[in-house]
Amino acid sequence: MNEQWIQFANEIKKMYGKDVVPLHEPTFDEKEIEYVTECIKTGWVSSVGSYVTRFEEELAKFVGAKRAVAVVNGTAALHIALKIVGVEENDEVLMPSLTFVATANAASYLGAIPHFVDVSYETLGMDPIKLNKHLEEIGVLRNGKLYNKQTGRRIAAVVPMHTFGHPVDLDRLLEVCDKFNLVLVEDAAESLGSYYKGRHTGSFGKVSAISFNGNKIITTGGGGAIITNDEHLADYAKHLTTTAKIPHLWEYVHDEIGYNYRMPNINAALGLAQLEKLPQLIENKRKLTLKYDKLVSNLDDVKLIMENINSKSNYWLQTLILGNSYDINDVLNYLNNNGIISRPVWTPIHKLSMYINCPKADLSITESLKNKLLNIPSTPLNFKES
Ligand SMILES: *Cc1c(COP(=O)(O)O)cnc(C)c1O
Repeated sequence: MNEQWIQFANEIKKMYGKDVVPLHEPTFDEKEIEYVTECIKTGWVSSVGSYVTRFEEELAKFVGAKRAVAVVNGTAALHIALKIVGVEENDEVLMPSLTFVATANAASYLGAIPHFVDVSYETLGMDPIKLNKHLEEIGVLRNGKLYNKQTGRRIAAVVPMHTFGHPVDLDRLLEVCDKFNLVLVEDAAESLGSYYKGRHTGSFGKVSAISFNGNKIITTGGGGAIITNDEHLADYAKHLTTTAKIPHLWEYVHDEIGYNYRMPNINAALGLAQLEKLPQLIENKRKLTLKYDKLVSNLDDVKLIMENINSKSNYWLQTLILGNSYDINDVLNYLNNNGIISRPVWTPIHKLSMYINCPKADLSITESLKNKLLNIPSTPLNFKES
């Protein structure tokens, strides 16, 4: 790698004041210690306690949705989201192949089959124009339900994912959903604090999922949430994720096969403290983007991914897109061996052994992005100056 990259790596180390700069670390201070300590001191660490309700209420308020149901992780949130919108065994679920494997796994837990569609260069998320074209080719509406002519299966839902915090083109996607009578479920695992036309991601879908894993913009250790504006679905999500137990002072009566997916109180305490500082974290992420934009402008044939018009990104993970003059392995080798922890985008899911035979549309953009995208250190810095 040439002088430009040596300087790039050195500037990042200088910015973070570290010799080895991790990809993403959580930001904790006194608030987290205070709330978590309170749980331990009072003994309310597990499935009962007031932090879960407080966290759910504050989260719903932040997202601008009626309800949030806190669960053990983002994958569980997606699983239940898909279940309560009516995804059933042998249904197909449209999703990008360029996503974390959890999106596909959640559909599989219900016996449904992922059906992969392409992303756009502009958003790195599901491309509504290509989706529309694909459904015109393979889809047929019968009694208001969409079927895949090639497999005979029902197509039940569309699950876009807001890659690295960048919102997909939701207006156009909702038009396609309307036209083909499909339910929208947002995988908003990465986009807490991201907005599309001034509205928070995750508030567009009938139901959406957020993740609070350790590497996400805020963390509960492990955790997730189901977001919806439908009170009835929210109540059902709560019921299903708390073993489907009928409330009673002492009897154990459960009215269906439920899940033990409830977020423990101690995790919600951590989450509440994190949520209180989320606006500051987002602001610091945006300042980091401006710094990176300057650094990346010194690299030939490389661009920093920026938010789209109409969108405000949380910039969860900073992303480089390499031009054709590069071999991504050379860049990953250089950066990782020189203290800048960086990662390529996921292996597209249609390439994984368990999903290799799933139905799919043309995935040419996904395939070409695989060898161009990489994430670089993205922990928000505490910028003092404005
Ligand atoms: C993190 C993530 C999830 C799953 O979240 P977990 O909390 O790790 O289970 C799902 N989808 C995407 C796109 C993610 O990035």
